[in-house]
Amino acid sequence: MSRIPEVIGNAASEFDGIPGVGPRAALRYAFWLVSLPKERIRRFAQAMLAVSEGVTHCRMCGAWSTSEICIVCADPGRDVTQLCVVATDQDMRVVENSGAFRGRYHILGGLIDPIEGTTPDVLSIDALIVRVSATDNDITEVVLAFDPDVRGDATALFIAKRMQDLSIGISRLARGLPTGAQIEYADETTVADAFTNRRKQ
Ligand SMILES: [Zn+2]
Repeated sequence: MSRIPEVIGNAASEFDGIPGVGPRAALRYAFWLVSLPKERIRRFAQAMLAVSEGVTHCRMCGAWSTSEICIVCADPGRDVTQLCVVATDQDMRVVENSGAFRGRYHILGGLIDPIEGTTPDVLSIDALIVRVSATDNDITEVVLAFDPDVRGDATALFIAKRMQDLSIGISRLARGLPTGAQIEYADETTVADAFTNRRKQ
């Protein structure tokens, strides 16, 4: 990037590494950015900054939230007997948009992946066990809404083992999601189907 102005190169470096964005796309974004009116760039920068300053993890489910307790956890209309465990915030949004689930959520922050070095201890699994083991909770069913792949299977197996002594039903999203599919990219009908057809873990 030596023949382009340093500031554009710097902007490109910041875009590089965004999920799905490589060096070429990053440079394209940087050139797009520099072509925008100054006011638009200011709004863009302020929106990015607001993300770092105004967002925290919900104390209950771990989702990104602008308040200590997110709007889903704070909603008194949710079914407190059902807890849906998801890998990421994006997966939670997809399940939520499917309209098939009216309980609460728990976000793990990823799935177990020995190859990538994602071990159970770096995920929010201990917090999940504490949450479902608490004597004052009303949870009767835990739905594991993981991608139907090796990582999803490993994570489901691990959690089921950790919860085997608890008298809580565990189910996993089943039909609807083809093997290798990612919840994040599934359409809402598919996720709703997978919910309806969930099977006992
Ligand atoms: Zn929450």
